[in-house]
Amino acid sequence: MKAAILKEKGRFVIEDVPVPRPGPGEVALKVSYCAICGSDVNRFATGRGAGSILGHEFCGRIAEVGEGVEGWSVGDLVAVDPITQCNTCFWCLHEQGNLCLNRSGTGIAGNPGGYAEYAKAKSVQLFHVPDSVSEKETTMAQCLAVALHVFNLSETKIGDNVVVVGAGPIGLQVLACARLGGAGNVYVTEKAAGRKGAAAEMGADAVLDPTEVNIRQRVYELTGIGADVAFGCAGASQAIQDTFAAVRPGGTVALVAENWAAQLTSHDMVDGEVKVRGSRAYWRRDFGEAVDLIATRRVNCEAMITDVEPLANIEKAFEGLLNPTTQVKTLIAP
Ligand SMILES: [Zn+2]
Ligand SMILES: [Zn+2]
Repeated sequence: MKAAILKEKGRFVIEDVPVPRPGPGEVALKVSYCAICGSDVNRFATGRGAGSILGHEFCGRIAEVGEGVEGWSVGDLVAVDPITQCNTCFWCLHEQGNLCLNRSGTGIAGNPGGYAEYAKAKSVQLFHVPDSVSEKETTMAQCLAVALHVFNLSETKIGDNVVVVGAGPIGLQVLACARLGGAGNVYVTEKAAGRKGAAAEMGADAVLDPTEVNIRQRVYELTGIGADVAFGCAGASQAIQDTFAAVRPGGTVALVAENWAAQLTSHDMVDGEVKVRGSRAYWRRDFGEAVDLIATRRVNCEAMITDVEPLANIEKAFEGLLNPTTQVKTLIAP
């Protein structure tokens, strides 16, 4: 089968590799689509994870069922939770598998993922998807689970004014969650044209371009007192700083984007008694709820898919996402 291997920073090579065969408790899948995650773009930009088949946001149809697997048949369309956990550490036993000490996953940590014609997964990673849900929508479940998790951790209340910093796929899905969760006004900050348009289409009350306005000033003009909840959904240092600048004294900052260089001081949290919630991936139940939100059409994920590229174009697709213009979510169709 064809698979895209990240060879080094900035370079994918399509290679012929053996089709994975499922071991006991596993299934092999014919990959329908694998979405490009911001963390994959970071791996492409840095070379982290080189030598492996990346791709953890994928779905597919079961091609082969391994020994001892029950309840799954060849041809079933399944959503794949790429995260695997040990089920024995303190966090796993307290339903916080996202913090598992021995966490690993499909398409992460060197394990082969979805930028290939076939991939394998443990049957416990699979979620059933109703026939009414398309393969493209199913691909979005993982990313929606991430957004749902940070939204729930933020404890946003009905009527809260919300600022979402960054209108990438996670930011847009946080916007959708905020709408579902009864937030008051939802303001989104973004500079890329395609993502600004998507935020407006998905119901943002205003889209603020940080290259045109001072985010803190504009948020205070709009809200009077600052945002009750500010979500950090973009990893640039300025975006992290904008998230803290947007929140009101006594409000909550919920961070899902990672950054290793942003300049923050304890003053940023102490001065306004800001509550800070970090959010890492999601719990398994979030993944199931994300599938439900898609299946019941409460979140329209398909609207966010702007680009679908064959495996052969993967390097170009990643290059484009280093500085997105019109792209929101790009899917690879292996
Ligand atoms: Zn991801
Ligand atoms: Zn564990």
